[in-house]
Formats: sequence, C-alpha cells, structure tokens
Amino acid sequence: MNIKTVQKICYGMYVISSKKGGQLNGQIANTLFQITSDPPTVAVSINKQNLTHEYIQESKVFTDSILSKEAPMTLIGHFGFKSGRELDKFKDRTYKIGITGAPIVLENTIGYLECEVLSSTDVGTHTIFIGKIVDCEILSDAEPMTYAYYHQVKGGKSPKTAPTYIKEEKPQGTVVSSKYKCNVCGYVYSPEEGDPASGIKPGTPFEDLPDDWVCPVCGAPKSEFAKEE
Ligand code: FE
Repeated sequence: MNIKTVQKICYGMYVISSKKGGQLNGQIANTLFQITSDPPTVAVSINKQNLTHEYIQESKVFTDSILSKEAPMTLIGHFGFKSGRELDKFKDRTYKIGITGAPIVLENTIGYLECEVLSSTDVGTHTIFIGKIVDCEILSDAEPMTYAYYHQVKGGKSPKTAPTYIKEEKPQGTVVSSKYKCNVCGYVYSPEEGDPASGIKPGTPFEDLPDDWVCPVCGAPKSEFAKEE
C-alpha cells in the first residue's frame, strides 16, 4: 500500500474561521468539499487540537474564505502555521464579520461561504463539520489556489495537524547544500532565491541573513532552521 496515493486527490486552499464570544480565529484547511446542493452544504475536517475547532464547536458556525493562486506564503503561514492561542490572527488583517458573526478573510480571497453546523462526526484526530451555507459571495474572478499548486509552485508543506500530513522520509545520499529548512513549517530557504518579499536579495547565504530575519511562512527565528543534508 502506497499511502502517498492520497496526495493525488485534488483540493483547494481555504481559511476556515469561527468565533467564540467576541474572539475570532481562523486556520488554513484544504479538506473542504461540497456535499449537497439543496440545501447547499459543505463538509470540512478540522483537527481537534486547533483553536478553530474549539470555536466551531462552541458557536456552531464557520466561514470559508477561498484563496486565490496569488495568496502569498506569508498569508498561508500566518493562518496555517501559527496558533490563535499565541496571537490574535485577525489583528491587522483585512476581514469582515459575516452574518454568522464569524470573520471572513478578505486578502487574496476570491469568494466565501458562511455556514451553520448541521452535524459533526468524530473521526479520531479530527472532527468533520457539516455546514449549511447561509450566505456566500464571489469576490473576484481570479483563479483559486489548489493544494497541488501550493505544494509544487509555492513549495508549501503541511503542518503535522493537517489531515493530509504525511511524514517525510529523508532520501539517502543527498548532496550537502547550503539550503536551510525551517523546523517549524518545513519552508526551505534557498540562497539562490533569497527572500525578496523580506528584502533579501537572491544569492544571499543563510549565514548572511540579518539576525532578526524570520521564516517568511511561519515567523520562526533563524535558530529554528537546520542545514539541509
Ligand atoms: Fe517556518
């Protein structure tokens, strides 16, 4: 059995958000799909460890912001690799509060759904929430980001809490390079590419990055990086 076969399944990239009292939180998910059209329903699989899970269970509502291909890794890193227990993820972000009272991310969002939870299924590490769409809107004609595009073009990884996470085996006999990998999110710093979004020119060795440089995806400091071997 080759478990990597499941990576052939197609997905999109979404920010799933919810609320608890006056608190807001959101996270990245790829595991969302439509179930029925009448009434319009969708299902989403959310890790029980995530704060968004707690909020959805409490408020029985969630929103889905559908990300465009142009969504930067920093946006995905912000919602996907940080915890709302440590920071207010909506502080300084562009969003609106929907009719459910849950937030809708408006950065690189091509459309959104607002859902009320009809039922949920306990599937061990995750809960599948089935939501009835109570409001939705298209915001842009830009192309949606697929999960495959995120992996192949953006170089994105899955956090360990993602339903689609698969532990990577290190290939044998790889050449020593000066690429450095973030231990938190899996982002690889390539000296050839640099980090132009943070003002780091292509050709900058990892060792020459300023001490206050942080992972462009998850915000981890340089000390969280390990040389790729
Ligand atoms: Fe990182």
